[in-house]
Amino acid sequence: MRFEHARHELVERVLRFKGIRDERVLAAMRKVPRHEFVPEPLLSEAYADYPLPIGHGQTISQPYIVALMTAALELSGGEKVLEVGTGSGYQTAILAELAGRVISIERIAALAEGAREVLRGYKDVTLVTGDGSKGYAEEAPYDAIIVTAAAHRTPPALPAQLAEAGRLVIPVGPPFYQRLLKITKTGGEFREEELEVVSFVPLVEGAG
Ligand code: SAH
Repeated sequence: MRFEHARHELVERVLRFKGIRDERVLAAMRKVPRHEFVPEPLLSEAYADYPLPIGHGQTISQPYIVALMTAALELSGGEKVLEVGTGSGYQTAILAELAGRVISIERIAALAEGAREVLRGYKDVTLVTGDGSKGYAEEAPYDAIIVTAAAHRTPPALPAQLAEAGRLVIPVGPPFYQRLLKITKTGGEFREEELEVVSFVPLVEGAG
């Protein structure tokens, strides 16, 4: 009850105010219990609009950024989506509400296990433990790819695994300050636009 109200307030007072317009995304954020994805001592902060630590030096992303990135993927229900950086699994759950199938890859086994536990009710989610900086060729191509860790530059494997008309959303830049990019594949060409300035934990590349 207390959390339902907090979730409603987050959607109606924060996300809408900050410019999130996609009603499907807003509905998903109203539905998914973010408090189940944050560490117990931080429960009271589960619906605040900032990132929270989830252990292993990683964070659960700020709700506004989750909403912004998800809206940019333009999901309408049947898509196959790849997420790089499962972390808590919260973004994964939001994607699962909005797409047909979600494959999410996480390099830290303990986080992948935690996400597996909290996401056990989601049938169309496949969790993979490993390095997602090369994407996940086994299931490619994807209608949408979301990277929730910051890359120095876009790893070439990711746009390469997009389907025609596919969308890739990725923070690119040095630690603490990145440009959130949306890359769209049209007629075999890639168009890039900048959505926001963000601060993500690093994407670890080439470390197995
Ligand atoms: N979407 C998550 C964000 C977690 S932070 C959430 O909101 O909870 C980013 C995650 O990316 C971390 O868990 C980190 O371990 C993971 N990560 C970093 N580099 C990775 C890589 N090369 N492959 C897969 N996961 C990676």
